[in-house]
Amino acid sequence: MKLTNKVALITGATGGIGLAAAKLFVGEGARVMLADIDQAALEAAVAELGAEQAASVVVDVTQPEQAERAVASTVEHFGQLDIYVANAGIVGPIQSIEDCPVEAFDKVLAVNVRGVWLGIKYAMPAMRRQGGGSIVITSSGAGVQGMPNMSPYNTSKHAVIGTMRCAAKEGAADNIRVNTVNPGPVATRMIESIESGFDKDNTDQVREAFTAGVPMGRYGTPEEVAKLMLFLASDDSSYCTGGVYMVDGGNAA
Ligand code: NAD
Repeated sequence: MKLTNKVALITGATGGIGLAAAKLFVGEGARVMLADIDQAALEAAVAELGAEQAASVVVDVTQPEQAERAVASTVEHFGQLDIYVANAGIVGPIQSIEDCPVEAFDKVLAVNVRGVWLGIKYAMPAMRRQGGGSIVITSSGAGVQGMPNMSPYNTSKHAVIGTMRCAAKEGAADNIRVNTVNPGPVATRMIESIESGFDKDNTDQVREAFTAGVPMGRYGTPEEVAKLMLFLASDDSSYCTGGVYMVDGGNAA
């Protein structure tokens, strides 16, 4: 049990990776506040995880008062906040920079960058008050390499590495650790929407091309990403901060 007596707040908690992390964390003894925009999915997830170990809060991470409320609700409900997983994200259109609407750029940056920044802004004071914590941001392979036709997403996932590095230095003296996990392609709804964005009539071929490009020759599973999140969330990573951690089958190598 690596997370006994720990409390985690996870955003994007009803999605593929977020829910896998919530399940793994609960299995390791944590109590978890699930945050997402999808209320029905939140209720189903809490029912599955059990009301003693899990609770939920409906949050649009782009909204400051909602991001602040998510942290406050976690502390009110569970008494503390040890782990913040800034995981909510969207892809946006699959288009070249030239064709991508400006509004689409702003929308992706709002969720994937502003949303992460806001979460950290409100989680850090709570962690400082209790003597430390761990913040895990879901960046991406798209945070360390170019991804043609995904420019808003590509930009956003690089940007949060900057946010992470800044927060890591601001939090280190108070034992607040901040790191990113950088998944390669992982089998969730998000990768399905990317596949159909590239060619909605031939998603099988797109998937074959994507997996052929991964040295390990397959997509990752949400559980494989969650295990890296667990390491960074737990005291096993007590000297790890400011790091970019790939979980990508060798994709970025
Ligand atoms: P997913 O679509 O299954 O989950 C994303 C979740 O974020 C959903 O539950 C959605 O409701 C939530 N969300 C979206 N906008 C929100 C908002 N404004 N406020 C609160 N919640 C919001 O996708 P996933 O693959 O589980 O993605 C999780 C994270 O992993 C994302 O940050 C994504 O960019 C990142 N990632 C995914 C992959 C992949 O291949 N699946 C690869 C690298 C990184």
